[in-house]
Amino acid sequence: MSQPAVSFEFFPPRNLDQSFRLWDTARALAPLAPDFVSVTYGAGGTTRQLTHEAVTALASHYGLNVAAHLTCVDATREQTLQIVADYAAAGVHEIVALRGDAPQGHERFTPHADGFASSVELIAAIAERGDMTIRCGTYPEPHPDSADSAADVAWLKRKVDAGASSAITQFFFDADTFFRFRDACAAAGIDAPILPGILPIQSWAGARRFAERCGTSVPQWAEEAFAGAGREGEAALALEVCVRLCEQLVAGGVDRLHFYTLNKPELVLKVCAALGIHPNGDLSDVA
Ligand code: FAD
Repeated sequence: MSQPAVSFEFFPPRNLDQSFRLWDTARALAPLAPDFVSVTYGAGGTTRQLTHEAVTALASHYGLNVAAHLTCVDATREQTLQIVADYAAAGVHEIVALRGDAPQGHERFTPHADGFASSVELIAAIAERGDMTIRCGTYPEPHPDSADSAADVAWLKRKVDAGASSAITQFFFDADTFFRFRDACAAAGIDAPILPGILPIQSWAGARRFAERCGTSVPQWAEEAFAGAGREGEAALALEVCVRLCEQLVAGGVDRLHFYTLNKPELVLKVCAALGIHPNGDLSDVA
């Protein structure tokens, strides 16, 4: 089986302890030579400055290709595009462009009066600059705001037409969920790469909560397996489940995997090792 390319999502640290954790995570995973790493943008834009600092530090210290997440929430168009301009000035040329979730105090996403109304508008505006690689999010199971899966496919087509050159999926448990979506996208004429978002399960309780929030269905087999494994068996099962999912994806033609690391490198390293992806180099020259 050929080895897939990998990429990693991090979140920006909010305190010194988390800073060390991000640093250790990047140091552990950088030798796997990821295609890119990405740094999330806190709900409601709450980590605007922290995301910028994490993105530029990762790019300059590790020489990583870093994609900065950016949402439309609670900001004017001008403010949002200024963030993109600041990244460009700092030498960062990849953005994961998202609509984002409902601003505080709202049940549904509500655009800022002078802000971007959708991810498509944001992508189109960034694309106009002509100097950014734009990635977007996508949903192999219906997003809570979408009528059905066909609506998510149609919306992804609009994002790609607006300028997104690849899409990263929400996490899912079964490889078939991804394959069905990938095939529907291909049938709709979407030729941009779709990277499966893989969540190594650091905690079953946490993964279930996260799934509920974002509309990922939890299959019966997973409920039963994790209930049966108990706390002592959870880590071994999480590794087995993640490796199996990745192997099935690769066997089905997937050539790149995007890992939601939660800034915890150990399980990701073990999964990658099982897939034959090993660290290749030392970091003695890291500044
Ligand atoms: P969109 O794809 O624009 O919308 C989601 C779905 O809603 C669409 O597929 C479509 O079916 C429907 N829809 C939305 N608008 C319209 C419209 N105008 N017309 C028709 N249909 C529409 N959140 C953060 O706050 N920070 C992050 O860093 C972050 N990173 C993420 C990374 C990835 C890879 C993913 C998948 C999600 C991430 N999120 C993040 C979560 C994301 O902000 C939420 O899922 C949000 O609700 C949708 O954002 P989006 O850009 O994916 O939405």
